[in-house]
Amino acid sequence: MLSKILIANRGEIAVRVIRACRDLGITSVAVYSDLDRDSLHVRLADEAYALGGQTAAESYLDTAKILDVIERSGADAVHPGYGFFSENTDFARAITERGVTFIGPPPEAIEIMGDKVSSRRAAERAGVAGVPGTTEFLTSPDEVIAFGEEHGWPVAIKAAYGGGGRGMRVVRSADEAAAALESAQSEALKGFGRSECYVEKYLTWPRHVEMQVFADTHGNVVWVGERDCSAQRRHQKLIEESPAPRFPDEVRQAMGEAAVRVTRACGYVNAGTVEFLYQDGEFYFLEMNTRLQVEHPVTEMVTGIDLVAEQIRVASGEPLSFTQDDIVRRGHAIEVRINAEDPAGGRFLPSPGTITRLRPPQGFGVRWDGGYEAGDEVSQFYDNLVGKLICWGADRETAINRTIRALEELELVGPATTVPADLAILRHPDFRAGEHSTKWVEERLDLSGIEPAAPAADGDAGREPKVRRDVDVEVNGRRFGVTVWVPESQAAAAAPAGGPAVRPRPRRSSGASAAAAGSGQVAVPMQGTIVKVLVNEGDKVEEGQTVCVLEAMKMENNITADKTGTVKEVKVEAGQSVGSGDVVVVIE
Ligand code: ADP
Repeated sequence: MLSKILIANRGEIAVRVIRACRDLGITSVAVYSDLDRDSLHVRLADEAYALGGQTAAESYLDTAKILDVIERSGADAVHPGYGFFSENTDFARAITERGVTFIGPPPEAIEIMGDKVSSRRAAERAGVAGVPGTTEFLTSPDEVIAFGEEHGWPVAIKAAYGGGGRGMRVVRSADEAAAALESAQSEALKGFGRSECYVEKYLTWPRHVEMQVFADTHGNVVWVGERDCSAQRRHQKLIEESPAPRFPDEVRQAMGEAAVRVTRACGYVNAGTVEFLYQDGEFYFLEMNTRLQVEHPVTEMVTGIDLVAEQIRVASGEPLSFTQDDIVRRGHAIEVRINAEDPAGGRFLPSPGTITRLRPPQGFGVRWDGGYEAGDEVSQFYDNLVGKLICWGADRETAINRTIRALEELELVGPATTVPADLAILRHPDFRAGEHSTKWVEERLDLSGIEPAAPAADGDAGREPKVRRDVDVEVNGRRFGVTVWVPESQAAAAAPAGGPAVRPRPRRSSGASAAAAGSGQVAVPMQGTIVKVLVNEGDKVEEGQTVCVLEAMKMENNITADKTGTVKEVKVEAGQSVGSGDVVVVIE
């Protein structure tokens, strides 16, 4: 059995893996960026190592830094969580070459499933059909038009290397083809470094049903159960459940068997998910995710199998601890994702910031998988998943009611979250009847009644910022240089001005009230980075015109003039970080 696992991740999933390690008596090693120095996963792990840096690229995605911590900590395995290195074959190979176990599938399987075209071909070889489409890369919009005319509109242009709902465009008629192809290619190039796209039929009312699979190194492959993840916005999941509602058992069996064939066909080992679209009684292969999924807990709740512990056992070379026939699914489980996003008006705008109060719900059938506690900051630099609420009930109705009850009990103050949207979904008769689809949240659910969250109060209940102090200590007469991080108030009392380097204090929201409509004080609604400034001093602007573009949590947001007038002052430039409520442009 593995004895020391480095978790190359942060937040909720790092916490999840650390807990599994502790259950199994395995030492856990956390890594952290400068911004995560005091975060929950660091507090919980047996050992923690600083990576330095702020952005993911400077920290969690820096292979050399992770390799260095593996060396220093003596870890014999790495759990990548999801995102970051979880589907990165260069990283998997780099650690395996050093004799360190990658807790995940072999790199060859990741490669086959790594792009949507190669995975479609692999599924076809296993006799599992995808959504009708091509497996050739598009070279011109004419091919999109020819496909649409043959199979009917709408069609979807999809980036072969896309993910997270990005790099996909729906085309409803021939005259939209050229622009859609160009924009899908450019989004894919920007987000994933590759622009290749293909075309498939766009299903108009499908459900997203995916199958959890597990394979070991002894040739055993099983399907564990399906999850319905149809409640989505921007093609990203909000609520997941198991079993899928209104899903006949013979379809479940057939989907499970198809998923096992796909898993075998790519030489897969460890936990994986085969995703399907399901419409009119038929299912179509969509892709295979070669890692643990965010929504894995719903499967755990209905089967009683700890999927992370099983991942660790399988990576240690042990056979699966259960056979296909051992798996029993009981009751119903629902997972609600709680993201730092403001769902007001259905817009789902990023809402990073400090969590000033957090009290998770409790009680029978309630599980909270969180990455943060009160006082922690949800940074604009990382994924905005604050935590997941998973509720189990003897049947679907009980599970839905319990999830609503638990969400009502949850106290979370600070960033705006998806909770109001989650509640609107769970309470809606379409959802309760299982009549929703992947388009339902965006096309039918009315979120206009959700008011924008009030700007968070100046984060005085947050954890006090810390400053760095470098001190020399002597232990048994041996001198060491030590870095200590002390709360700002103590540091001010202890050190004279002009002391060692002080970390810049994060900007706090100040002028939020000055940004009332029409004042001409254009403020940003959230923390982020200015990526573009579109006006100069002296320019005439119209109310509603974009004055600059703010990027937060991988999304671009247009910041618009709140009145018509002349730009008197531009307070920011591209590349600058701003805090929620900071005034960026003044209009007279
Ligand atoms: P990604 O890798 O970006 O997550 P997927 O191929 O897994 O992309 O698709 C994500 C979501 O996009 C699906 O859950 C579904 O809602 C929608 N989608 C993808 N392909 C189609 C299609 N052909 N027809 C209808 N919806 C689709």
